[in-house]
Amino acid sequence: MVGDGTRCVHGGYPAAEPGAPLHPAPVLTSAFHLGVPGDPLPRDFYGRVDNPTWRALESAIGELDGGECVLFSSGMAAISAVLRTTARPGRAVVLPADGYHLARTLAEEELAPLGVPVRTVPTAGYWGGAVLEGASLVLLETPSNPGLEVCDIAAVAALAHAAGALVAVDNTTATPLGQHPLELGADLVVSSDTKAVSGHGDVVLGHVSAADPVLVGRLRAARSRGGAVPGPLETWLAHRGLGTLDLRLERQAANARAVATALRGHPAVSDVRWPGLEDDPAHAVAARQMRRWNGVLRFTLASAAAVARFLEASRLVCSATSFGGLRTSADRRERWGDAVPPGLVRLSAGCEDATDLVADVLAALDAVGR
Ligand SMILES: *Cc1c(COP(=O)(O)O)cnc(C)c1O
Repeated sequence: MVGDGTRCVHGGYPAAEPGAPLHPAPVLTSAFHLGVPGDPLPRDFYGRVDNPTWRALESAIGELDGGECVLFSSGMAAISAVLRTTARPGRAVVLPADGYHLARTLAEEELAPLGVPVRTVPTAGYWGGAVLEGASLVLLETPSNPGLEVCDIAAVAALAHAAGALVAVDNTTATPLGQHPLELGADLVVSSDTKAVSGHGDVVLGHVSAADPVLVGRLRAARSRGGAVPGPLETWLAHRGLGTLDLRLERQAANARAVATALRGHPAVSDVRWPGLEDDPAHAVAARQMRRWNGVLRFTLASAAAVARFLEASRLVCSATSFGGLRTSADRRERWGDAVPPGLVRLSAGCEDATDLVADVLAALDAVGR
């Protein structure tokens, strides 16, 4: 099998043909010629159903995920499609108590009123027993956002399958290079490609991959009916971004290691978590199931005011609520309603030079004081 870099650079591009562009342009159309009455329906006939620019990126991501990829207009549209296609009245949906907050809110606000019991489990908690009884779907998020806790995908998948539930894994922090949930036994992998997959902070996009053609068919139908379709231009930009995912991830992971190590030695900082650190509580399980690390870490300062002083003093860390981009960014998660300490910061290491980044972070922390 070829390496990650080669697959990122070449994935989804057509075979060489004289006169054809190396990088096909986005197909910006809502409608396609249908031919004359009686002609068979062409593969492409309407922009809400399919588009060649989608198929190119779906081919690249599907190959990385080890399944068939279905793109959506955002990570939440992807999660919403997974919930809609798997939830059944009277059968529970089980979600992480500490994962991406909107997935939980969506289930609680929109599925529970339709008679779908919604249960939550901490990512690092026990995913077996009564919580799985009568469940139709278990959604995991590992490493979790923002806590960077980890759970054992293969072990939970075995328990969930024995209980008759499907397993979906939100792979956003790990990325399609960092972890292959389908290989580990999951039925579905979802991702917010707004983050590292597109990688430049210029698009909102998501996808679901599955190996079972029945699930793939249901997702495609859900996309066409639900209408949460990606724009061809966003798709094209994400495909261009994917080409450098291997390079970006390598730099981001190296920077995350350097920043996490430096943060640990600073008196203003507590509770530094990055699964790649050998003595992180999540390291053993993460190292077993992840292929490589990424740039997302978290740490805690004394208060919300301390975080504000840190962000004000830093020249390289921008305050933004996304991650996986070229620039290092940080987000104080309590402001969004996550059940975390007010001083908890999720930091996304970017592609700056490690020495510059570490120097900047340490200088900003000194401005915070103790
Ligand atoms: C950002 C994020 C989402 C939502 O994705 P959008 O593209 O913003 O809709 C879902 N899950 C996780 C883990 C995320 O970080």
